[in-house]
Amino acid sequence: MAMSIASIEGKRTLNFIDGAMRPPKSGRYLPSFDPTNGEPWYEAADSDAGDVDEAVAAAKRAFLSPDWRRMTQTQRGKLVAKLADLVGAHAAAIGAMETRDNGKLLKEMVAQVSYTPETFRYFAGMADKIQGDTIPINKLDMFNFTLREPIGVVGIIVPWNSPMYLIAGNCAPNLAIGNTVVLKPSEHTSASALAFAELVIEAGFPKGVVNVVTGYGSGAGDALTRHPDIAKIAFTGGTETGKKVAANAASHLAPCNMELGGKSPHIVFDDADLDRAANGIVAGIFAAAGQSCVAGSRVFVHKRAFDEVVHKVIERGRAVRIGHPTDEDTQLGPLALKAQLDKVQRYVGYAVEDGAKCVLGGRQPQNAALARGWYFEPTLFVNVHNDMRLCRDEIFGPVAGVMAFEDEADLMRQANDTVYGLAAGIWTRDIDRAMRFARDVDAGLVWINCYRTAAYTSPSGGFKSSGYGKHNGFEAIREYTRLKNVMIDYSGVTHDPFVMRMKS
Ligand code: NAP
Repeated sequence: MAMSIASIEGKRTLNFIDGAMRPPKSGRYLPSFDPTNGEPWYEAADSDAGDVDEAVAAAKRAFLSPDWRRMTQTQRGKLVAKLADLVGAHAAAIGAMETRDNGKLLKEMVAQVSYTPETFRYFAGMADKIQGDTIPINKLDMFNFTLREPIGVVGIIVPWNSPMYLIAGNCAPNLAIGNTVVLKPSEHTSASALAFAELVIEAGFPKGVVNVVTGYGSGAGDALTRHPDIAKIAFTGGTETGKKVAANAASHLAPCNMELGGKSPHIVFDDADLDRAANGIVAGIFAAAGQSCVAGSRVFVHKRAFDEVVHKVIERGRAVRIGHPTDEDTQLGPLALKAQLDKVQRYVGYAVEDGAKCVLGGRQPQNAALARGWYFEPTLFVNVHNDMRLCRDEIFGPVAGVMAFEDEADLMRQANDTVYGLAAGIWTRDIDRAMRFARDVDAGLVWINCYRTAAYTSPSGGFKSSGYGKHNGFEAIREYTRLKNVMIDYSGVTHDPFVMRMKS
């Protein structure tokens, strides 16, 4: 892989279409900013519908070409496994580019990228294990079976918060099953997607199987989701964008897989290990500066444990080391975007206006060394109600509101009183209570005595305005197949042509 921070700093990156790097047709480029100082550090191709057309056409040709279509499943699996090795070998360089692009901790991004080879290997192993069924149909002289087939060209759109992790989760099942893809990364994090493209070629995939088109969501992203040759859209991003994408997809009846935003409830009962629970709350909302779809941003604590838990979270929050994301000691880096910092500040203002009380943070760090970056302190509010803007909207920053609850009924009512349904966490030693919560909460992912744990084997995906479809696990590969039913009549009988054969 030739790409690295040094190779692109101060330069322009291109699109990756049909196995080659190509300049955007418009000749325009967009800046990618370093969140630690607000300076642009390279420019990515600002693609338009013409580039998207070219990429989709290349992916369509590749899908139909015998090089890919007639490759055995086992061969395909081997290619995906080879890609796993290559991504693993370059995890440090890819993680470093992601940190420079999105400001998240270097150790977190390298850990995320280092984990993705497991995702590729998991789906590589599935390539020759996806099978249909043989189905009896009450007609003894007929044979009936199903085929699970690839669906075609899949458009993949990922956000900036965990680019390579989401690229892996979306590309691996598609490549394993035999689809081809056009990937549009966020305008803020183009580098890792292009580095990944280089590895696809090094692994030996036929040209056109993976294409990367960079650019703005409103430009390249919009064109990709409208394109009539896209068989399915895998979208990860905010709920409002997801609605636009789904509307575009509906214009040509393309199904979508929607991994959207959240406002996840994070619950502590008074019987819990309160130190572990407080630690979990910190992990849920302050890790990654809260820029996590599953952020536990609505914290509910039983009234008997409320003061103690709030005190513990404040203590831990004050001790968080804010600093440059590449420093080994740093626990909280900057927010990825200036717009994100503005949003966090706006919502802190709304919380105060709505009557909440800030008991931790609430401002940018008063440290001259960090003044040029988009940093924000870990922030906690009390005197909070679930209907405040702080609790209704996804903020995507290190900001949580803590609310007290009376009993399980009161808790469930408040926990489910949100348009979102992505994740939920509960801390309690009472397994019956934990199981009742897991059964009744409207969330696609439930953590009991843990939070923000991920596994490529485990299907995740939200309910309600958090989306539909699953990511990871067997469910993910099924999402990208189509099911065909085949019937064979071996009776040798000529049937009445005017009557549909229903009976045996
Ligand atoms: P976003 O603004 O919705 O953008 C997501 C992606 O969509 C980006 O690549 C973006 O490109 C693109 N996009 C924007 N407008 C588009 C349009 N009109 N048509 C097609 N594509 C368009 O979200 P974000 O701020 O990047 O990411 C944060 C959001 O992602 C949060 O809501 C978070 O909860 C969610 N998320 C969900 C999951 C999950 O698994 N459920 C995981 C991670 C993140 P540009 O960046 O170039 O505009």
